[in-house]
Parts: sequence; C-alpha cells; structure tokens
Amino acid sequence: MTQGKLIYEGKAKKVYETDNPQLLIQEFKDDATAFDATKRGTIKDKGICNNKISAHLFGVLETHGITTHFVRLLSERQMLVQRLEIVPVEVTVRNIVAGGMAKRLGLDEGKKLPNPVLEYHYKNDALHDPLINNYHIFALGLAQEKELGDISRYSFEINEILQEFFGQRRLVLVDFKLEFGRHKGKITLGDEISPDTCRLWDKATNKKLDKDRFRRDLGGIEQAYQEVLRRVLS
Ligand code: ADP
Ligand code: MG
Repeated sequence: MTQGKLIYEGKAKKVYETDNPQLLIQEFKDDATAFDATKRGTIKDKGICNNKISAHLFGVLETHGITTHFVRLLSERQMLVQRLEIVPVEVTVRNIVAGGMAKRLGLDEGKKLPNPVLEYHYKNDALHDPLINNYHIFALGLAQEKELGDISRYSFEINEILQEFFGQRRLVLVDFKLEFGRHKGKITLGDEISPDTCRLWDKATNKKLDKDRFRRDLGGIEQAYQEVLRRVLS
C-alpha cells in the first residue's frame, strides 16, 4: 500500500490517496478544536488513541453486521479505509442530555432521556453545522429517502451495540456523532468513533472521559483518552 497525495486536511485528521483509487488513508492528528474551531489546542497522543479506539470499535460494529469503511490499521496514527462519497450530514444520537441539546432546549446536563434522540446537522463549517431535519435533507438533495432510512436505522443499531460495549467497560455512552457515506450503492459508516466524537462518562463517578475535558479546561485530558483506549481494548 503506497501513500499518495494529501487530498484533505481537516480539524482532526488528514486524508491521503493510495495507489488504489477505492482506498484512502486516514491519519489522526493531535490537534483539537472546539466551539466551531474558535478554541484550538493539541492533546498529546490523541491521534494514536483515536486511531486505535476507532479501529477497535469499527471491528466490533462489523461483527454485529454494520458496514463500515474500516479496512485495517496501517500504523499508530493511520488506518486504511474504503473511499466513501460522504453524505454531508452529521448524525448525533443522544441517550443523556448534554452539550448542544442542554443549551438549545434549556435542559440540565445529565438528565437521562426516555428514548434515544436522533439529530441531523448539515456538515458545513461556514454555516456552523446547523441543525436540520429530514425535510431539509431531501429538499437540499443531501440524501435520498431510502438512504436516510438506512442512516437512521443503522445509527440506532450502533447506539445499542456501543451502549452494551461501553457498559461492559464501566463507561456510559452519553451521546455520539456519526458520518456516513456511499460505497458501491450501500450506506456505509465512515469517519471515526472516539472520545472526540462521543461523550463517555465513568459509570461509578460520572467523570468525563472525552473532549469535554478540553472544551471546559477540566485537565487530565491526555489521561482520559488513554483511559478510554485501555478500557476499549480490555
Ligand atoms: P473535518 O474537519 O471536516 O471534520 P476531519 O479532520 O474529521 O475533517 O477529517 C476527516 C474528513 O474526511 C472529514 O471531512 C470526513 O467527512 C471525511 N471522511 C471520513 N471518512 C471518509 C471516507 N471513508 N471517505 C472519504 N472521506 C471521508
Ligand atoms: Mg471531523
């Protein structure tokens, strides 16, 4: 596998072409951003943790029948993935009120929701990733009805699988963000699943073990990512 040219550098990752047009390399950086990239910093070895955590979780999801872009790990910071045509919609699944939902609806963080809540955000940095619904998605041509049906169904299934997986490791899955794309006509899970994109609380203490430690300057950020990696691999 030969690394080709850099085709995209985002906030957390770099994406490279390979000698196979169907395959890309995702490289995980230590760069951290929050609040629409108005806050920036680095978290030492975050890229290594997120690469390994994502790889493991994609593997778990595959064993439960979810199609993901993951092919294999290449190195500490790089994974080989199937090239997707990304659907520019970020899917958030929430089990407990936190973050944007607490703010938008004036709810207290930590309230357990009676049912999981699915949200769509238009993936567009210039517009600050606005909250949208299925009608916006069809009207803007971001996804077809059948595709969005698959996306929402897979998202709830992934929530069940990950809640169980993290629960066994004394972690509460508060909420998480997913990105999907198209591969050979099938909706496929892409991007990453990590403490950058999930809120994870220690079951016994409610200690935050995710990017909220960076957002809110809670300290112990590197240790939190290492702790999640340790538990995921346990
Ligand atoms: P961003 O700042 O846009 O969130 P990231 O730093 O997360 O970017 O870099 C990853 C980029 O690659 C994202 O824009 C994501 O949508 C895209 N991406 C993720 N997986 C794939 C894939 N399998 N094929 C093509 N693009 C992908
Ligand atoms: Mg991203």
